Amino acid sequence: MNRRYRKTIIAGNWKMNMTPSQTKAMIEELKPLVKEVKWCEMVLCVPFVDITTAVKAAKGSKIAIGAENMHFEPKGAYTGEVSADMLKECGIKYVVIGHSERRQYFGETDETVNKKVKVALESGFRPIVCVGESLDEREQDVWSEVVRKQVKIALKDVPVEDVKKVVIAYEPIWAIGTGKTATADQANEVCATIRECLRGLYGARAARAITIQYGGSMNAKNAAELLSKPDVDGGLIGGASLKPNDFHAIIEAANQ
Ligand code: PEP
Repeated sequence: MNRRYRKTIIAGNWKMNMTPSQTKAMIEELKPLVKEVKWCEMVLCVPFVDITTAVKAAKGSKIAIGAENMHFEPKGAYTGEVSADMLKECGIKYVVIGHSERRQYFGETDETVNKKVKVALESGFRPIVCVGESLDEREQDVWSEVVRKQVKIALKDVPVEDVKKVVIAYEPIWAIGTGKTATADQANEVCATIRECLRGLYGARAARAITIQYGGSMNAKNAAELLSKPDVDGGLIGGASLKPNDFHAIIEAANQ
């Protein structure tokens, strides 16, 4: 973390977990635990059907609510999809875009990620843009090329004045939901590479202001070490964000 230049952000990604009643219970349990948190922003990205409940439950706290996806078209014949305007009315502040599970199971590409990022920014949301290499790409030592390409295409035609609202989440696919974490040095190396790529695209001032999270089996035990690295500005957390005490422990690590 480097709080001099950028915000530390801890975001939960609930994936396809939690009903509305479970959402209410979880946020009510979390709220008093994070009352005194000063140094990091807290976000919960929840399933569409939980958003209204989550926004209501988080009211009066410092927890912001986000969506896990959205469509780039404003409306139309896209059965099962949700638009930015719909999400705006529900009160979200963040939206996860290009999660590897959406790329793998739902045909998300770098190009659709780019369209969504632009619509999210136009709608006043902070997009959390997920990038990361597969196990094969890591083993072939092409992670740098892969991640740079994902970042460049995701941010195509995003102007410098908007890019500071973007959060990048570096999520190595081999570490998501597997219990296998990147070492703190590996995570920092890739986050620093992403920042260097951003520097090339937008200049040093913008690059140092952008929050770059690590995600992939981050938990209460490994969070402090990962977050101690200068280019790791927070976390995108799946499994551990479903339990108030575990999520709180990660937030505390980021709040030091
Ligand atoms: C994620 O879903 O973005 C994620 C990082 O999951 P987990 O923390 O469970 O690996």
